[in-house]
Amino acid sequence: MFHRNHHGFVPSGVLLEMAARNPDQLALTRTLFNTQQLWTKSAARNGQVFRFLQNAGTAERMMYDAKNGTSLPGTRARFESDKPASDLVINDCFDFLGIIREFHLKIHGRNSIDANGMALKGVAHFDRDYNNAYWNSEYMVTGDGDKVNFLTFNLLNVWAHELAHGVTEYAVPGGIDYYGQPGASNESFSDITGANVESWHLNLKAKDYHCTVGKGLWAPVAAGSKGIRRGLRDMKNPGTAYNDPSLGKDRQPAHMDQYIKTSSDNGGVHWNSGIMNKFYAEFCVSLVGNDWESTMGRAARIFYAARASLQSSRPSFGQIAYWASEACAMFPGEEADLRAKVAAAAALVGIKPGQKVVDDLTPVADDGVEV
Ligand SMILES: [Zn+2]
Repeated sequence: MFHRNHHGFVPSGVLLEMAARNPDQLALTRTLFNTQQLWTKSAARNGQVFRFLQNAGTAERMMYDAKNGTSLPGTRARFESDKPASDLVINDCFDFLGIIREFHLKIHGRNSIDANGMALKGVAHFDRDYNNAYWNSEYMVTGDGDKVNFLTFNLLNVWAHELAHGVTEYAVPGGIDYYGQPGASNESFSDITGANVESWHLNLKAKDYHCTVGKGLWAPVAAGSKGIRRGLRDMKNPGTAYNDPSLGKDRQPAHMDQYIKTSSDNGGVHWNSGIMNKFYAEFCVSLVGNDWESTMGRAARIFYAARASLQSSRPSFGQIAYWASEACAMFPGEEADLRAKVAAAAALVGIKPGQKVVDDLTPVADDGVEV
C-alpha cells in the first residue's frame, strides 16, 4: 500500500458530501471529475519531472493562465523578468510564489521546493468554476471557485500548504506516504507550513495568529442561515472550522482518543491531521515571546528539522513528536524548556512521543473498517 500523491486542498470527501447535498450544483461534480483526470495525467509524467530537475535551478517564478481550460500549463502570464500582468489574480499568485520562496530561503535556508532552485510554476484560472487547488509535483494549479460554495483558492495560506507537499516530497527520502497516520502527518506538515508562511508574512506572534487553514475560501453564508464557514480546518480547535447545511460539518478530531479509523480519505488523512495540527498550534502558543521569531519562528524551525530527521516514509505521530523534541537542541540554553513544551503539547492531544512508537491506528485491508 503506497500512496505518494495528495489530491488537492479541498479533500474529495468534503466535495463529495457537498455534491450530495447540492445535486443541482454541477460545478461540484465537475471539479471531482476533472481532478481525477488530471491525476491520471500527472502520475504518468512524474518520473520525467524528477529526472529533469537534477541540475540546480534559479528558483524563478513562472505563472501561467489556463484561461478556464483544463490543459496544463496554459499560456505564459507572468515570468520572473516580466512586468506585472493586467490580471490581478496572476499578480497575486506570482507574489505568493515569491513570499513562499523567500520564507523557505530566509527561515530554513532552503533554495526552493527541492532545495536545488527548482522553478516555481503556477497555473491560475484552471477550468470553469473549479473548486480546488493542488500541487501535482510540477505545477501549483488553482481554480477560481464557483462563487456559490468557494469564493477563491488564491490565498497565501492555500498556496503555501500545497507547495509544502512538494517540500515534503524532497525533504524526506521517498516522501511521506499519503495514507493513514503518516498521510495525516503529511497533511499536517502542509497546514503547519501554511500557518508559518502566513503568520510570518503578516508578522504576527503565535497568540495573534488565527490558526485557521483556508480562511477566506468559503463563499459567505446564505442570508438567514446559521451556518459556520470560518475556514476548512482550525488548527487550534479542530472540528470547528465549518458547520453548514450546504457543506456538512468539519469532522476533525482534536485528540488521539477520537482518532478516526477509516479507509476513506486515504485513511482519514484530512481528518486525523487535526490531532497533529493541534499539537503544533498548542506548542506555538506555549512559547513565550512578543514577536513572530520567538514564537512561530522557533516552532517552525523545530518542526522543519523534525520532518528532515524522519527515518522512514511511514512515521507515527509519536515519532514526529520524538524528533521535534530532539530538534529543540538547536536552541542551546533553552533546550530543556522547549523539550518540556513539546511534551506538554503532545500530551494535550494524547500523542506519546517515542522513537519506536508504531502506528497501530491505520486500517489495513482485513481490518473490516469501511473501505
Ligand atoms: Zn494537502
